[in-house]
Amino acid sequence: LTERAVQTATTTCPYCGVGCGVEASLLGAHLQSVKGDARHPANLGRLCVKGSALAETLTTSHRMLQPQIGAQAVLWEQALEAVATGLQQTIAQYGPDSVAFYLSGQLLTEDYYVANKLMKGFIGSANVDTNSRLCMASAVVGHKRAFGADAVPACYEDIELADLVVIVGSNLAWAHPILFQRLSAAKEAKGTRVVVIDPRHTDTAELADLHLAIAPGSDVWLYNGLCRHLLERGCIDAAFVAQSVDGFTELQGHLHHPQYELASVAVRTGLAMDVLQQFFAWVEHHPRTLTLFSQGVNQSSQGTDKVNAIINSHLLTGRIGKPGAAPFSVTGQPNAMGGREVGGLANQLAAHMDFASDDVDRVGRFWQAAQMARQPGLKAVELFEAVEQGQIKAIWIMATNPVVSLPQADRVKAALAKCPLVIVSDAVQDNDTLRLAHIRLPATSWAEKDGTVTNSERCISRQRGLIPGPGAARNDWWIITEVARRMGFAEAFDYQHPVDIFREHAALSGFENDGQRAFDISLLENISRTEYDQLQPVQWPLSQRHPRGMQRLFGNGQFYTVNGRARLLCVEGGEQRKGVPDHYPLLLNTGRIRDQWHTMTRTGYVPRLLQHRAEPFVAVHPQDLKRLKLQEGDLAEVASRDGSVIVRIREDGGQQPGQVFIPMHWNGVFSAQARVDTLVAARLDPFSGQPEFKLTQVRLQRF
Ligand code: SF4
Repeated sequence: LTERAVQTATTTCPYCGVGCGVEASLLGAHLQSVKGDARHPANLGRLCVKGSALAETLTTSHRMLQPQIGAQAVLWEQALEAVATGLQQTIAQYGPDSVAFYLSGQLLTEDYYVANKLMKGFIGSANVDTNSRLCMASAVVGHKRAFGADAVPACYEDIELADLVVIVGSNLAWAHPILFQRLSAAKEAKGTRVVVIDPRHTDTAELADLHLAIAPGSDVWLYNGLCRHLLERGCIDAAFVAQSVDGFTELQGHLHHPQYELASVAVRTGLAMDVLQQFFAWVEHHPRTLTLFSQGVNQSSQGTDKVNAIINSHLLTGRIGKPGAAPFSVTGQPNAMGGREVGGLANQLAAHMDFASDDVDRVGRFWQAAQMARQPGLKAVELFEAVEQGQIKAIWIMATNPVVSLPQADRVKAALAKCPLVIVSDAVQDNDTLRLAHIRLPATSWAEKDGTVTNSERCISRQRGLIPGPGAARNDWWIITEVARRMGFAEAFDYQHPVDIFREHAALSGFENDGQRAFDISLLENISRTEYDQLQPVQWPLSQRHPRGMQRLFGNGQFYTVNGRARLLCVEGGEQRKGVPDHYPLLLNTGRIRDQWHTMTRTGYVPRLLQHRAEPFVAVHPQDLKRLKLQEGDLAEVASRDGSVIVRIREDGGQQPGQVFIPMHWNGVFSAQARVDTLVAARLDPFSGQPEFKLTQVRLQRF
């Protein structure tokens, strides 16, 4: 082995929505090490603990190496034939809506595109949803309601340019560590003020100049109170509002109600009036205010309204699309936005088109579709309810583990157990969902597959296939395409390489567009294979005027609504959810820990990533422990109306009394009784269908 044999290649990290660039060192077909890509705009050379351990996840010990039907290993030909025949027979007997796909923000954009095309354009159903529903569906609807399109106005550079950064519902330090590092560095360099709005005092709150330990779920009250303050103080960009924003008079009237007076907002949010006044004054006096929001906002039965309450504060002040000033949704998954671009959600079509317009015919014309879906399909939670009720009789789950990650996870498990045909494509040999599959398909994983992803700042980057997949593992786009061909759609799925799919995706984004659609990358529709291989990060939308894309949107006051104006929304604070005395007195919050990813199917196999938190736990305030006569290290049963888990107690003064926290990660392979989403009820946001993961009523007792 000589030093000269080592080669480097760039790709992107597959874990979170930051979408960091990675430089990998390769020795032949062996990936030796990784470091941050200094030229990637997301991370500028940094990597967090998870990203820096990527090379250690590439063992084959837990990988699925061969397709399986039941317990029998089979050849690909047999497996593909079984999938195609199973879907066809189900459709023939029960109709297109009796089948469903459930996808993942882990899929690359090209994988996502062909899955959607097959279901929506050729099977003729829109029953294709994704675990991104659990992540940012509320932000999508909030953006569409306010801007007319699901378009994020900001870019990461705004973190350095802002004078005030408000973080709402995010433990950025653990969930998006590189953005946190960028913020910490900016604070160090220029004294950026930081406000953290979160019921928990997390590592992120440690950085804050002001931590608002808000009552869980009261964000709309807080932001309505803020907007009222801004109106009263005349902190409004009157020219911007007059020229570019609808709904001002209605919002003014709405917020005039006494319930949004300071004293009332203080009661609703559980915050002291002087703390609120300080927050309001800081926002008032910082034109460069950036609001970063994430799952504490989105994963809520009021998530969409929370998003719009935040956006209202930016539209009123004209702080949008300007350096250091914007509302900024930070997504959870590496490709949550790429999935949105190709219509990965059941209520969307590809290239940000919708069912409620002539877009259905437009997409159908472009695809020369055999049978276009004409109505939105079932959203994630509803989709598994339809499996439970026997309406869906065949489901194909790709790269996700819903038996761990969906609310009422035991109900999902029972539904799949009685579903006549469950097909699962995954990279690993064993997880809770795979155990219920009739057909298992081995998929390639990070560093083995080629394609693109889009991160939280609309930046499209390449993930590159650097090493061969193990055993018989194949790329997801190839698996879907081969099934489509066997179902009789060979002509429409004649792809030889991901670049063929990317070109089609890019062409569709500009098809009959006339510059009216937010998502447009049609400049890349004739990209060559070499150009695709060498593609550098680029931020959509692309145009002749902005061939390298745009960092910020809406700074010119032009939005994607029909009249080109943004919309203020009159959103209500709503009732506060509390514990139920004597039965379920505590409120459970769930979320990420620093070193684990999703249901641990990758990171759970890396010993050093288990050093930070080695086992599932419940974080409890010392006062609650004293009251319950429990202590750190005890095993506890946490129970809700929907289920129970057994976890270790961690004493945590960062919790508020009456509130507990359990990480979302542990699956049934690593810990038989710690699947926290067995506790979580299926309470959905009425607009986005995103479930509430932050407010479950539970009780806690010694196990
Ligand atoms: Fe990967 Fe996210 Fe860490 Fe970046 S911040 S290295 S994308 S996990």
